[in-house]
Formats: sequence, C-alpha cells, structure tokens
Amino acid sequence: MADTVLIIGASGQIGTELLVALRQQKGIDKVIASDIRKPENPIFDEGPFEIVDVLDKERLIDVVKKHNIQQIYLLAALLSATAEKNPLFAWQLNMDGLFNVLNLAKEGVVKKIFWPSSIAVFGPTSPRFNTPQYTTMEPSTVYGISKQAGEQWCNYYHAKYGVDVRSIRYPGLIGYNSPPGGGTTDYAVDIFYKAKQEGKFTCFLSSDAGLPMMYMPDAIKATLQLMDAPSERLTVRTSYNLGGISFTPAEIAVELKKHLPHFEISYSPDFRDAIAKSWPASIDDSIAQRDWDWKNQYDLANMVNDMLQHIKG
Ligand code: NAD
Repeated sequence: MADTVLIIGASGQIGTELLVALRQQKGIDKVIASDIRKPENPIFDEGPFEIVDVLDKERLIDVVKKHNIQQIYLLAALLSATAEKNPLFAWQLNMDGLFNVLNLAKEGVVKKIFWPSSIAVFGPTSPRFNTPQYTTMEPSTVYGISKQAGEQWCNYYHAKYGVDVRSIRYPGLIGYNSPPGGGTTDYAVDIFYKAKQEGKFTCFLSSDAGLPMMYMPDAIKATLQLMDAPSERLTVRTSYNLGGISFTPAEIAVELKKHLPHFEISYSPDFRDAIAKSWPASIDDSIAQRDWDWKNQYDLANMVNDMLQHIKG
C-alpha cells in the first residue's frame, strides 16, 4: 500500500505541481496538502488540505498523527530575495521548520523526508562553471547559509539517527502552474508572461547573468525519482547537485524572439544581480546520474516552446 504523504508549503510554486504529481502516483486521498494559506486554485479543493504552520510543532504532530503520515515533503521556506529582506526570520523559518520535521523522523513518527536545498549553497569562491558536487562552499546570502546548514543537519540526522532524508539542490525552476515565490531566478518565469502580454520585459538581472535553471516537469520527475531510489544506492545525504539548462537573460531573450519576433528585453539590474553573480552558472550533476539514473529531458528550446504554448497571450 502506498505511503501517505504530507506536503508542507503545498501552495507554493513547487508544491502546487508536486501535489498533482504525487496524487497521480499515490492516489488523491494519500496526499495531504498543507500550508499557512490556501489559494483560490481549485486543485486545492480536490483533495485533503490542512492549514499548518511548520513552526507550530504541536499542530504539525496533530496533523501527522491524524492522517497517519509516513513521508513529508518540506517545501516551506523563505526564498533568496525575500530572505535578504528579513534575514533573522528567514533563518528561523528555514532552520526551525527543518528541525521540526527531522525530529519527527528521528522519533520514528515518519519514515522518509524530502527537503530541497538550492544552488545558493555555492558562493563567489566556488567554481562558477560546471560546479562539482564537492567543492568550496562559502554562500554569501542568508538563504544560502540556511540551505548549507540545513544540508549538514540532514547529513547528521542520517548518520547519527538513521533518518532517511533526501535532498536536491534545485536550480532556478520554471513553470506555468503557479507563480514563483521571491527568488533570484523568478525573472525566467516572469519573462514569458511579459513577452506574451506586453511584448517587452525589463530584467532585474544583467544580460550576462548566467544561471542554472530547470523546467518544472524535470524538477518534479527528479524529486519523485530520488524519493523512489533504493536507499543503498544513495551516496549523498547532504543534497544532490542537479544541472538542468544553463542560460543568461540575453540567451533566453534570443530564444523567445524566435517565436515572438517583436519581443524586446531591457535591463535594470537590482540587488538580485549580485546574488545571481555569486551563484554557479552551470552545475555538474554526474553523481545524481550515477546514483539514481538522473537525466534531464528539456533543453532551452523545448522549454521555451512548451511554456509559450501554456501561457495565455
Ligand atoms: P514558494 O515561496 O513558492 O512556496 C513556499 C510555500 O511555503 C508558500 O506557499 C508559503 O505560503 C509556504 N509557507 C511559508 N511559511 C510557512 C510556514 N511557516 N508553514 C507552512 N508553510 C509555509 O517556494 P517554492 O519555490 O515552491 O520553493 C519550495 C522549496 O524549494 C523551498 O525550500 C525553496 O528554497 C526550494 N527551492 C526553490 C527553487 C525555485 O526556483 N522555486 C529553487 C531552489 C530551491
């Protein structure tokens, strides 16, 4: 029988998509969505939904027990750009939320956890191109510091208490089902809406700010694949590098112009440009390929084509 899973932060960019994919995999009643807010989107009325603040330990335990939860996908976090505006709260939410969930597994209440990390764990002293799994990591954002610390705690809970926690360093994620939640890579979603609806876009990064990105269907596929992988094959219990597609704002603009010839991009870099430039431009994910057969499906051209087909003009 399929495990019952709880998604914490289900109303966000990734949670909305993961909810649909997990329901398809396990059945609607086996997937409990939770968040501090319930969006208007009808997807959230089609199955169980609980209001849960991940910082409220008692409420979390009640919901886990009520639904006999075996797996938790912890997506609640403050993202890079928002975290820079509220560093101490970002640290509290990103760390205490993780501890509340890790401790449930340590106590044997749940048996498996997914917790996403980010390319933000790397910093200006990391190799910028084809950044390896193991390398110098000196993150310069509060978001990156919280993800780096979180990775080490996941590894520690696995080594000391046998907690089965699995993690991916997501690159910037691009999808059309729900808006992004305040990250440095959000421009790569917004650009599609502005291109289609207004024919022009002002980018908050500079033209050459290359970043690793991934189309949402690939990110969801990777998440489910890692969670289904046999435990003995996993050699990384901090978090796996995942590469995807690497491009600059100028490069995605060129690709968009192939479909929308009148599209114009201009640049007005803000504080997020410095964050982008402290991160890798491309990622080496050969260890994910080796350990759980990871393979990215979408390239830039396919992703742009598919996004444009789904976004209304
Ligand atoms: P998001 O901001 O879109 O969604 C986060 C959700 O968490 C929101 O719905 C929010 O209401 C909810 N939330 C906030 N505080 C909460 C609390 N106290 N209790 C319960 N829920 C709470 O973020 P996302 O893009 O879906 O990201 C999910 C995870 O993936 C985060 O850990 C993020 O760091 C990571 N990640 C995302 C990306 C990306 O490009 N989207 C890239 C790398 C890593």
